[in-house]
Amino acid sequence: MSILTRLTRETARRILPSTRYLERMGSIESNGSTPVFLTFDDGPHPECTPQLLDQLAGVNAKATFFVLGSSARKHPELIRRTLSEGHSIGTHTWSHLSAAKVPVAKWINDVLRARHEIEAITGQECPLFRPPYGELTPLSLIALLRAGTRIVQWSQDTKDYTTSTHDEFCRWFINNQPSAGAVVLMHDNQKITCAAIQEGLKHWQADLDFLAIPMTAEPSTAKKKL
Ligand SMILES: [Zn+2]
Repeated sequence: MSILTRLTRETARRILPSTRYLERMGSIESNGSTPVFLTFDDGPHPECTPQLLDQLAGVNAKATFFVLGSSARKHPELIRRTLSEGHSIGTHTWSHLSAAKVPVAKWINDVLRARHEIEAITGQECPLFRPPYGELTPLSLIALLRAGTRIVQWSQDTKDYTTSTHDEFCRWFINNQPSAGAVVLMHDNQKITCAAIQEGLKHWQADLDFLAIPMTAEPSTAKKKL
């Protein structure tokens, strides 16, 4: 992660409300259990995503999927299935472009192209967004805020793209118990993740409630405004 990204993220964390920028979720009502927010990037993937959805349904877990516009265009039925099973959808640019690598005008076009594609597929607004690699520059942050985006980073990274065995994947869960409001980064184009997620989650404490990040503002924030 570049120094510019680190500074931009630190500034965003300090000055922006959680309706605009978050790395972990604030207080959310969850029937006395501990809320945890699983997130999956880089899909939809024609083989892995359906398997992952089946696995999540098996343990009654909801999650948030940050999808690529280019993949969503190829597999719109997976976007609709994901939503119909109670998960949230956010976007992750059209072509996995890093904000640190291209001019901001080109980058925000790629961001908005993905958002328009998802909104056309789902028929609903899709303000959640995760920047590829978490990279953000001051100009890309301003462009996202002007577009009404809610930027979602993460508080725990499984680094599942470096995992080569089920055991290694599960070991991460054993060694990294989540705290309330944790936002956990995974990828639904990774075969091991999609095959072993149920097994991994079994290694966490039993009182967790796996929730999707709301596609609208957080209920607690909405209440305050009334
Ligand atoms: Zn990604």
